Amino acid sequence: MRNPSLDQMQERTQSLAVPCPDCSQPVNVACGYRDRAGTWRQLEAFPAHINRIKAARAKRENA
Ligand SMILES: [Zn+2]
Repeated sequence: MRNPSLDQMQERTQSLAVPCPDCSQPVNVACGYRDRAGTWRQLEAFPAHINRIKAARAKRENA
């Protein structure tokens, strides 16, 4: 992520507590995507996939 805000950094850290439903990355592994050449790249535009952020929030709220 380029120049992440504090909120984004916290969101990213917290999202690592759950696996990602979108890109199937396990706990503690950052979200990523395949570019047009098929190369795996870490997600840069967002802290994590939105469904992972939601899952992490739900987990925190239920903890
Ligand atoms: Zn993901």
